[in-house]
Amino acid sequence: MSESLAASDETRARDALTRAGLALYRAGLNQEAEGNLSLRLGEGLLITPSGLPWERLTPQRLVLLDRDNHARGGRPSSEWPLHRAILDARPEVHAVVHTHSMFATTLACLRRDLPPFHYMIAQAGGPDIRCSRYATFGSQDLAEAAVDALQDRKACLLASHGMVTVGKTLEEAVSLALTVEKLCEQYWRACQLGEPVLLSDAEMDEVMAQFSDYGPQYDEKDLT
Ligand code: 13P
Ligand code: ZN
Repeated sequence: MSESLAASDETRARDALTRAGLALYRAGLNQEAEGNLSLRLGEGLLITPSGLPWERLTPQRLVLLDRDNHARGGRPSSEWPLHRAILDARPEVHAVVHTHSMFATTLACLRRDLPPFHYMIAQAGGPDIRCSRYATFGSQDLAEAAVDALQDRKACLLASHGMVTVGKTLEEAVSLALTVEKLCEQYWRACQLGEPVLLSDAEMDEVMAQFSDYGPQYDEKDLT
C-alpha cells in the first residue's frame, strides 16, 4: 500500500466494503460464503476473506493485499487473482463484485452471452454481456478469462460459475450487479414464453448515447 494512504482512508474503505458485501447478501445475490468483493486501496486492494459466511463479515475481517500481493489480516478470497487482474488491466476500475446469483449463474451454466433483448444491457457498457470461457475457480486462467470477457464492458458472466461487475466506485459495481441479475431473470423469463426480440446495433448505439448523459444532476453543494 502507498505510504501516503491515510489510516482513515483504510477505515472508510473497510466500512464501505463490508456494507456492500452485506447488502448483496441481504439482497439474495450471494449465500453462505459465495462470491467476493474488492476495492482498490492505493497500490494494493482490500478484499473479502475466503470461505467466511457473509453474516460473519466485519470490517476487521477484510484482508489487505499489498502491491506485491502479500496478504495482511487473514486468507484473502480464493478469487484474489481475478480481482487483482481486473484492477491491473483496468485503471479506471476501483471496485470488483463477484456473485453466484441465481439467474446470472443459470445463464452462465448455459454459457450464453446476454444479447440486447432489453435496452438496460447497455448499462454494462455495450450491446451484450459476454460469458467467459470456463476455468477453475481461483485460478490465474479464470482471472485472464474474466479480463477478456470484460473487454470494453463493466460486467460479464463466468462460465458454469456466476457473474462479475466492475465500477469506478463500489456503489456503481454493486448497483450493476443488481441490474445484471435482474436482466438475467428477465431474459430467462422471456425465453420461457418465446424468443426475445433483440434490439439492433443502431438502437443500442442510441441507448448508449442517451446513457452518456443520463442521471440526476444535483449540485452537491445545494444538498443538505
Ligand atoms: P471465496 O470464499 O474464497 O471468496 O470463494 C467464493 C467464490 O465465489 C469462489 O469463486
Ligand atoms: Zn465464485
